[in-house]
Amino acid sequence: MEYDVIMIGSGPGGYTGAIRCAQLGLKTAIIEKYPSLGGTCLNVGCIPSKALLDSSEHFYNAAHTFAEHGIKLADLQVDLAQMIKRKQEVVDVTTKGINFLMKKNKIDEIHGVGSFVDPHTIKITKADGSEQTITGKNIIIATGSKPSSFPSMPIDKKRVITSTEALKLGEVPKHLIVIGAGVIGAELGSVYARLGAKVSFVEFADSMIPTMDKTMGKELQKAIKKLGADFYFSHKVTKVENTGDEVVVSADTPKGEQITLTGDYCLVSVGRRPYTDGLNLEAAGVKADNRGRIDVDEHLRTNVPISTRWAM
Ligand SMILES: Cc1cc2nc3c(=O)[nH]c(=O)nc-3n(C[C@H](O)[C@H](O)[C@H](O)COP(=O)(O)OP(=O)(O)OC[C@H]3O[C@@H](n4cnc5c(N)ncnc54)[C@H](O)[C@@H]3O)c2cc1C
Repeated sequence: MEYDVIMIGSGPGGYTGAIRCAQLGLKTAIIEKYPSLGGTCLNVGCIPSKALLDSSEHFYNAAHTFAEHGIKLADLQVDLAQMIKRKQEVVDVTTKGINFLMKKNKIDEIHGVGSFVDPHTIKITKADGSEQTITGKNIIIATGSKPSSFPSMPIDKKRVITSTEALKLGEVPKHLIVIGAGVIGAELGSVYARLGAKVSFVEFADSMIPTMDKTMGKELQKAIKKLGADFYFSHKVTKVENTGDEVVVSADTPKGEQITLTGDYCLVSVGRRPYTDGLNLEAAGVKADNRGRIDVDEHLRTNVPISTRWAM
């Protein structure tokens, strides 16, 4: 099968791009590694985190503000399993909407890991081990990102977790240590703080959401502090250890002293890295740096030109 465009990755970059290509009359295929479309945003990012923010806000208001309005609730409890189930239902409805859009726009949906064989050929390795090869005049890489970490904070997905695991915990942590007070740490830290967890933020920079507006960072900190959270700014995490039932986080203070914090979960939210693993970029001659970031020009074109044989 030969396509005008092959899109690798079905996140907000991939599915919207694929729809636009199809609308322009191009024969388009979309390849996605996971069974559901929508990428990080719909499956383990924007949508599920907002679903949990919504649910946790309801709980927080019921616990802390309803009484002032003359509404009394006896025996208020968090049913986390139901909260996570509802979140998954929200995700499922949204991702099914993307399947519908693919069908509506006659885009072929192929599930499996895509990797380059040459600049115009993609091999797709499916979950059952079988392989399919397709060719395309143009190939768009929209493979997104994965949570990153540092060697001092090895992720075990049990007690030392990323945002992906934090979106489906089996219990409300007693003490959640959040490394990195950026947007993802702030969101998920506030979800669990609202549900009753003690939350401590350990951040290398001197404020929350440090890459953004300072005033917003201060306002966000004020709001999260009201939930009872602690903040350790300008602290450098040196070690994270899963000791079985607990996690011990060691950090250097701005004065060069060392502190340790003990919690039951540690969320590592120190940023995300390009997800170009397994793409076999070399076979297409696509240049990337040693962190997997693809070199692109101001039009987001890679270094590989469209050959005249294939140009549309
Ligand atoms: C907890 C959290 C909350 C967030 N909240 C927000 C928010 O509120 N607002 C906002 O704007 N952004 C938010 N984001 C960021 C947002 O999710 C990303 O910016 C967005 O998903 C990027 O889209 P993308 O299409 O580039 O990549 P992705 O959504 O990551 O999609 C890439 C897809 O490519 C697939 N893929 C990768 N390699 C291959 C391969 N070789 N073969 C086949 N498929 C492959 C992946 O499986 C994935 O499905 C949040 C992120 C997280 C983690």
